[in-house]
Amino acid sequence: AGVVRFEDVRFAYVPERPILKGVSFEVPAGRTVAVVGPSGAGKSTISRLLFRFYEPQGGRILIDGQDIAAVTQESLRAAIGMVPQDTVLFNDTIGYNIRYGRWEASEAELREAATLAQIDRFIAGLPEGYDTPVGERGLKLSGGEKQRVAIARTILKGPPILVLDEATSALDSFTEREIQDALDRVSRGRTTLVIAHRLSTVVGADEIIVLDKGVIVERGDHAMLLARG
Ligand code: ADP
Ligand code: ADP
Repeated sequence: AGVVRFEDVRFAYVPERPILKGVSFEVPAGRTVAVVGPSGAGKSTISRLLFRFYEPQGGRILIDGQDIAAVTQESLRAAIGMVPQDTVLFNDTIGYNIRYGRWEASEAELREAATLAQIDRFIAGLPEGYDTPVGERGLKLSGGEKQRVAIARTILKGPPILVLDEATSALDSFTEREIQDALDRVSRGRTTLVIAHRLSTVVGADEIIVLDKGVIVERGDHAMLLARG
């Protein structure tokens, strides 16, 4: 389960300026497809349409064969996990931030998610542990630590579909490597749509789609696209 399909999707925020000009692709269940391309190409618009923040003006978007136009934003949010570029944490505890959306999770599940996201040791080293306040009035976390919290939250929520929208692009290259490892672990076995502006960050994707000015200009795996330059 979790097949995502875009069929000739067209979209414009303002009528005179089309952003997606007939975009078609499929992310097979459990696979990873990356959308790369220059800033302004329309990459994030694809994820906004998938969450139904906007409706396409042409074509359709299907999840497991069902047009998402008939699915509520609420159920889309349950089915799709998102790790954004900059995670903004709630002004509450680390535990709250990880449990968000999965309040019934047990203590053991919470720890397991933190371990997979590799933030368990960091939390264990804090005097108040999971009860440590974070955000504006609490402990300031680094960019990498915030991404790990977002990853732990996504692991705990366990959605069949994952969207990673420039999830490492705000990080330094050392932290980026570490977070990429954690992301690879979360995406294994899940239908994953990766949005990135550099080809080098999506080496492992099953298919890479190059978007430019709202049109898919190339598609293939990493080796194929490198060979074409
Ligand atoms: P990318 O993720 O590839 O950088 P986006 O999908 O974020 O590109 O944006 C594509 C284009 O749409 C950009 O030129 C951007 O300025 C424009 N855009 C994004 N959001 C809006 C909006 N809410 N209203 C009008 N234009 C927008
Ligand atoms: P949940 O608690 O079920 O994760 P949220 O209300 O946090 O639901 O939002 C669902 C998902 O949508 C989140 O993972 C969030 O990061 C993502 N999201 C929020 N804003 C945007 C946006 N502008 N574009 C794409 N995804 C977004």
